[in-house]
Amino acid sequence: MLIHGWGRHPVVDAEIRAPLTPTSATSVLSECKDVPLIARGMGRSYGDSSLASHVISTAYLNLLLDFDRESGIVRCGAGVTLAELLDAFVPQGWFLPVTPGTKFVSVGGAIASDVHGKNHHLDGCFSEFVERFSLLLASGEIVTCSRSEHSDLFHATCGGMGLTGIILEASLRLKPIRSAMIDQTTFKAQNLAEAIELFEKHHDAEYSVAWIDCLATGNALGRSLVMLGRHSGSGNLSARSKRPMSVPVDMPAPLLNRFSIGAFNALYFHRIRRSPLAQQVHYEPYFYPLDGIHHWNRMYGKRGFTQYQFALPKAAGMEGMATILKRIAASGRGSFLAVLKAFGKENANLLSFPIEGYTLALDFKLEEALFPLLEELDAIVLDHGGRLYLTKDVRMSEATFKRSYPRWEAFQETRIRYGAQGRFASRQSQRLGMD
Ligand SMILES: Cc1cc2nc3c(=O)[nH]c(=O)nc-3n(C[C@H](O)[C@H](O)[C@H](O)COP(=O)(O)OP(=O)(O)OC[C@H]3O[C@@H](n4cnc5c(N)ncnc54)[C@H](O)[C@@H]3O)c2cc1C
Repeated sequence: MLIHGWGRHPVVDAEIRAPLTPTSATSVLSECKDVPLIARGMGRSYGDSSLASHVISTAYLNLLLDFDRESGIVRCGAGVTLAELLDAFVPQGWFLPVTPGTKFVSVGGAIASDVHGKNHHLDGCFSEFVERFSLLLASGEIVTCSRSEHSDLFHATCGGMGLTGIILEASLRLKPIRSAMIDQTTFKAQNLAEAIELFEKHHDAEYSVAWIDCLATGNALGRSLVMLGRHSGSGNLSARSKRPMSVPVDMPAPLLNRFSIGAFNALYFHRIRRSPLAQQVHYEPYFYPLDGIHHWNRMYGKRGFTQYQFALPKAAGMEGMATILKRIAASGRGSFLAVLKAFGKENANLLSFPIEGYTLALDFKLEEALFPLLEELDAIVLDHGGRLYLTKDVRMSEATFKRSYPRWEAFQETRIRYGAQGRFASRQSQRLGMD
């Protein structure tokens, strides 16, 4: 079967096995003992991290197993999606403690990428709320991993991109809410300096994110809408806002050019007339604005696209970010909107992405001329002590990876200790020298 990530490139012919139970996952592993495998959840990672010629899909490990109403701890199969958790628990007054910008990801995928949301500056990554999980090792043994049991495997698996084993079940701590609504305040920032100032000033905001017009130049470089949010004290507990739309076919790639994208970005920025603007919105448009358009990844045409997401440490943030934005604006290749978020402290997981500072994510249509530009950006990111996000990556070099993830050797040692090397591998891990 042909599969790809969310960026639709590369496309790989894979043999996919989808076990129905943890026990049958063990059988699949022993039947495939001569070939490396990789786990795959919802395939929402952008690049090649869940691609290989042999794949174990967690699609059917999708049961909700237990819920403790006192502590808010839910136990579920690794294939349960964040959307399913929201549907089940928002009406009961519980929310995800950390959520990425789409709810169509699996719990296993969220742990393996150690995803972050708009509250990293206060609450950290998804793994902070993972009590424990069960992991199928290369030997066929299933072990429980937590901060106190097999803690080395816990810290290698959270953010470990599926390279230590297959997560089968997990226990997560949800967060209580009184309403499905978000009190949102939008500020217009005329440039990057104003946006960063707003982040610093509102450091204690429960959620924060900025949507940047990355084609704006000169005094308007980095102009953005900064959106703060917090769970409302009033409103209902409905899990859904409205029916999603869908992009029915691949859009012709030439429709996306610096003029159409520039016009869209300018319209987006100017739609807010009053700043700050306070509104109450449902959590869906606040957290998942793109989930409202199914298959929006078809907008970039048949060749697909890539998302370039990097993090820079705070000290280098402003200057490094400005250098990168200038380079992108000059190339005219920017995406619709770039997303800027603040990161809090780095955690103890060996390959987790966030470092204290700022992160910027932007989409690029895939074309030959893009690659030299991204290599230039890589060099700027490295010079400023930053790194790229593995779950978005499709092209980073081994040297860039090893320089920017200094704990990669400890990660490999853990894999070797548990027999994972040579047994769990993806297109990405082979490219990055971690097969
Ligand atoms: C629109 C959009 C917005 C996004 N926004 C954010 C964001 O704000 N923050 C953020 O951090 N990420 C974000 N992401 C990325 C996304 O959250 C991650 O890529 C996530 O890992 C995808 O989960 P998945 O179930 O689709 O995993 P897949 O894409 O299937 O796999 C991703 C990785 O997880 C591994 N994996 C999956 N399941 C298991 C398992 N059971 N056991 C072991 N390893 C496993 C795979 O091997 C692979 O390495 C976004 C993605 C999209 C499409």
